Amino acid sequence: MSKIKMNPIVEMDGDEMTRIIWQEIKDELLSPFVELNTEYYDLGLPNRDATGDRVTEEAAEAAKRLHVAVKCATITPNAQRMEEYKLHQMWKSPNATIRAALDGTVFRAPIMTGRIKPVVSTWEKPITIARHAYGDVYKATEYRVPGPGRAELLFTGADGGTFRETVYDYECPGVLQSMFNKDSSIEAFARSCFEYALSERQDLWFSTKDTISKQYDQTFKLLFQRIFDAEYAERFREAGIEYFYTLIDDAVARVIRSKGGFIWACKNYDGDVMSDMVSTAFGSLAMMTSVLVSPDGNFEYEAAHGTVTRHYYRYLKGEQTSTNPVATIFAWSGALRKRGELDGNAELADFAGRLEKAVLDAINAGTMTGDLALLCQDPDVKKVTTSAFIAAVRARLER
Ligand code: NAP
Ligand code: MG
Repeated sequence: MSKIKMNPIVEMDGDEMTRIIWQEIKDELLSPFVELNTEYYDLGLPNRDATGDRVTEEAAEAAKRLHVAVKCATITPNAQRMEEYKLHQMWKSPNATIRAALDGTVFRAPIMTGRIKPVVSTWEKPITIARHAYGDVYKATEYRVPGPGRAELLFTGADGGTFRETVYDYECPGVLQSMFNKDSSIEAFARSCFEYALSERQDLWFSTKDTISKQYDQTFKLLFQRIFDAEYAERFREAGIEYFYTLIDDAVARVIRSKGGFIWACKNYDGDVMSDMVSTAFGSLAMMTSVLVSPDGNFEYEAAHGTVTRHYYRYLKGEQTSTNPVATIFAWSGALRKRGELDGNAELADFAGRLEKAVLDAINAGTMTGDLALLCQDPDVKKVTTSAFIAAVRARLER
């Protein structure tokens, strides 16, 4: 059998348990079938430290050039990692560096199998959450008001013009917060959402609290609508999908009653909270994929979970772990499918579909890693190691 050929994608290797699984996926599930063509960047912490983190910036630049990337989970250094890896510096989170370079939005989607039922029984299809990861309460200025006094909002324009308004005349101690966002970031968020909805051929929902927040949230709503009307309405019609705006409280109620199968765009805080709710209700963190999409249509695929440190330490002691490789496999299949779609390489896109089907078939037949076995207490379920699970997928793929 001749191997499938492909144009290059960016490969960003990572750390710990996921780095081990990364290699196994390439050796067992990809290289035997595809002439893997990747531009390799080692984002493992030792190499980030050795290159002064330049490798992360170069990888992000490569993602812009090749338009498709796949990334392994990486360690975000903290004080303990400084010591463990004898680091020169507490390097920034690679994901933050890449997101900033691509000006992108992260979309998180659950991988559904017939075996693991979502807590919400009406959900038949995945719900993807898009979170605007800029500004708002995460960059707010706060003040603990010590006692009586006046709080004011003051803006001084570059031309010297001012806006000034009383926020509150305190008669006792209290709290004060001011937050901001900017049109360029909101517009990039909107374009990433519209691009991803087209890419997935799924409806896009967007929700804010514009009835209460008549300038702030209203601006989000208006900018989304303006960009949709000017740049995307026609393409959405052609793709047979919809853009739908509603209030956040109405959205929450509709999401719970829905069948799923759409993308829900949220402001920063709403997305933080709702993505934890949705991923928990769908089952397992190990079954969540994550795609970073830039407003000009570059895609970086990864698993939503981390490097699974606790399993890695057991692996180092010689133990065969039962770490779930599914989200990492789906990061690869997502990137290969996107490469295939962009290049009109149907064989490659088709392989991505067959790889995903082999994974889901294995799970539905009862072969799964420990985290999933715990979730579905069927008597016929077989808990296997990572390597045994990958071997089961390989056998199906070969067939
Ligand atoms: P984690 O790696 O996601 O793991 C937390 C726990 O969740 C694990 O100990 C394990 O529970 C379970 N788990 C996660 N993924 C699993 C999988 N594929 N299969 C089975 N169980 C899984 O989060 P963390 O321990 O908080 O972070 C570890 C490192 O990852 C940190 O250095 C952090 O900086 C990094 N991180 C990276 C990314 C990224 O690159 N996108 C994201 C998050 C965290 P049990 O131990 O109970 O089995
Ligand atoms: Mg959160």
